[in-house]
Amino acid sequence: MTIAAVILILVVLALSARWTWWRSSAPGLKALCYHKVGVPPPGSRLKPLWVSPEKFRAQVKYLLDNGYTTLLFSDLKKLHDSGQPLPEKSVLITFDDGYENNYTHAWPILKELGAKGNIFVVYNTIGKTNLWHNPASEPWVNMATLEQLKEMQDSGVIEYGSHTMNHPHLSTLKLEDAAWEMAESRRQLEAAFGREMCAFAYPYGDGAYAPAIREKALEAGYTFDFSFRQGKTPWPWDRKAATIDRLFIRGGDNNWDLALQLSRGASRL
Ligand SMILES: [Zn+2]
Repeated sequence: MTIAAVILILVVLALSARWTWWRSSAPGLKALCYHKVGVPPPGSRLKPLWVSPEKFRAQVKYLLDNGYTTLLFSDLKKLHDSGQPLPEKSVLITFDDGYENNYTHAWPILKELGAKGNIFVVYNTIGKTNLWHNPASEPWVNMATLEQLKEMQDSGVIEYGSHTMNHPHLSTLKLEDAAWEMAESRRQLEAAFGREMCAFAYPYGDGAYAPAIREKALEAGYTFDFSFRQGKTPWPWDRKAATIDRLFIRGGDNNWDLALQLSRGASRL
């Protein structure tokens, strides 16, 4: 074998490790997970959680150009409650935490291109900052205000779910306190927005696989609970069996990552 052939094989192997095109395609619900849309501030150690507005726009455009319908939580609930199949080309765009940059950067892009999104809000940090982070590792940035959140809801482009009251690691709390974080945030968000909160996302994914905590999430009245695990979720969804997985879009991902995540449930090893 020539050196050129060896080098070619090594390049193909490296690319196949970075973009896992060889995985078989998986059916199921495609729920994209974003956090912040914008440029990471100096000192951020969570840079992969920041997606630039240009990339976000290109990703939403990719979805629409490829015939995808973007679902709201209420659309998903109608499908779930009526036992209908998931439209083949449907996707749920979700954002965790409720940052102001969702209002300033993501919402205008969704609105302009004609797509829908859903935000999991931390009730006690509305209009404040990401107080659950240690600012030494992730600088505090503004969370959306109640007025901004209401404006987005009124546009028909954005719906909300709960991400607890304070963004704790639920498994480190007493079970009754974890239950309160989930139930009280649903009550408060429903009162603030005048809408049913049918979806919940576990902060850090913590508690999603602890049966006692998950039981409390479902008892709190949520139809859907979303984990922090990479993948697609079989549909019809077996609610008793497990949480809903998500497709995590990182700042360094390109549209091929997006395409692989949508079809295969992952784009990286
Ligand atoms: Zn979070």
